[in-house]
Amino acid sequence: MTAKLIKGTELRDKILEEIEAEVNEIKEKHGVVPGLVTILAGEDPASISYVTAKIKTAHKLGFNEIQDTQPADLSEEALLEIVEKYNKDDSINGILVQLPLPKHIDDKKILNAIDPDKDVDGFHPVNVGRLMIGGDAIKFPPCTPAGIQEMIVRSGVETSGAEVVVVGRSNIVGKPIANLMLQKGPGANSTVTIVHTRTKDLAAHCKRADILIVAAGVPGLVKPEWIKPGACVIDVGVNRIGEKISEKTGKKIAILSGDVDFDAAKEIAGYITPVPGGVGPMTITMLMKNTLKSLKFKLGIA
Ligand code: NAD
Repeated sequence: MTAKLIKGTELRDKILEEIEAEVNEIKEKHGVVPGLVTILAGEDPASISYVTAKIKTAHKLGFNEIQDTQPADLSEEALLEIVEKYNKDDSINGILVQLPLPKHIDDKKILNAIDPDKDVDGFHPVNVGRLMIGGDAIKFPPCTPAGIQEMIVRSGVETSGAEVVVVGRSNIVGKPIANLMLQKGPGANSTVTIVHTRTKDLAAHCKRADILIVAAGVPGLVKPEWIKPGACVIDVGVNRIGEKISEKTGKKIAILSGDVDFDAAKEIAGYITPVPGGVGPMTITMLMKNTLKSLKFKLGIA
């Protein structure tokens, strides 16, 4: 293997330690801790496990955390009222509504009702606008893209003037990470290209990339011959390609693969993220960072 492995699990542990230290310091000086509420409607098993992981992490960090679980037949009006209740709650700095919501509820209407200054997921149009403006305007960068940028920067990869190619143009990964890398400032200043399903020659664009960020959700999409020798490859894709029995628990678990042919790519790239254990663990970490940031903004110390 020639590529340096960027381990999301190790970075997560380090960043969470930093957050915990800051939480303790703020608690001592200001007598408050960050408050995070997760709102879940229904009993989708995947959503329950995501929300539980978020709340567990918040608890470990000493946050004030609330898991607000509602029935799947909750009305849209009732959910809007719940969001409004937390908007007004001074002890809450971050509000996260777990998606997907039940079909009778309009996701957009709910997300748009969250106070943009408590929108730690960074999906409210105001925060999307702040991201476009850049610089000090950015309050809450969306968590997965923020985690990707953190991985690149903390690995010591040069971003200034680098050719960054992003595969995928979704609102939660592709577009925001392209925006972050385009910003004027440290950890960015890159020349960015976004490619997608209508791009004419995907391979030609990928081959130019000093930093290749792949978020397509197509296993093995990026072939090893598309990777520039020494490039930094961030594989965001999480694809279930089968099942196996866990050695730890004896239970059936999914076999996951990224969008990049990892075994071949690691012989060409300079840096590469694994799947699992790469970008995945960074998302919850950045949610915690955004929630802490929200409290810091409120205290005027951000
Ligand atoms: P999406 O389906 O919303 O968007 C995928 C994008 O990839 C689209 O813009 C599409 O144009 C592009 N695309 C798809 N097939 C392509 C192809 N053959 N050639 C070129 N472009 C192609 O998905 P998303 O929400 O952005 O997620 C992408 C992947 O990242 C998924 O596997 C998802 O599970 C994963 N993901 C991981 C994390 C995490 O690790 N924390 C977070 C979010 C998403």
